[in-house]
Amino acid sequence: MNKEMPVILIDLDDTIEELLQAWVYFLNSKYSMNVSVDDITDWDMCIFYPSLTRQQVFEPLHHDEFWKTVKPKPDAIEYVEKLFSEGYNIFLCTSTDYRNIRAKYEYIVKRYFPYIKWSNVIVVNNKQMIQADYLIDDGIHNLENGNFIKILMTAPHNRNYDASANGMLRANSWKEVYELIHHFEVENTDI
Ligand SMILES: [Mg+2]
Repeated sequence: MNKEMPVILIDLDDTIEELLQAWVYFLNSKYSMNVSVDDITDWDMCIFYPSLTRQQVFEPLHHDEFWKTVKPKPDAIEYVEKLFSEGYNIFLCTSTDYRNIRAKYEYIVKRYFPYIKWSNVIVVNNKQMIQADYLIDDGIHNLENGNFIKILMTAPHNRNYDASANGMLRANSWKEVYELIHHFEVENTDI
């Protein structure tokens, strides 16, 4: 860890990867349904699959084969690596079921972000407890009240949220995330 450089926390699900897309695809295929990722405007996935039980909705998350289908978000590979190579302290910060973390690490982190070691993965329910300079996350509840610069990664469920009125910066892509951090750290300007 480079103590001179900022600490950047990055959420996993739907920030560095596209869980939602893989999940919707899986459920649609298995149960012959036609839900679109853009329809998922609430945190609770079950609302959008009323004919399925909660167990059916969450079942894929417990299988390695499913996690192998989860892909990184567009440009995440390029920009996370860029931040890492510029010396930022990159930590993945995920609130996850203990049964899923091994598969996420094995099939997403090691595969697409191999330079992020297990010692730089934080599993925590209350991300506000972690001291850092930035948190990049699609979950509003993870950013609220945190003592870091809050970058909200756009997702269907937060699309209508007024980020700037709530002290957050919205990023629609990894390129925008990179540019926001660059503004603060290199150009020393606020947005
Ligand atoms: Mg997330």
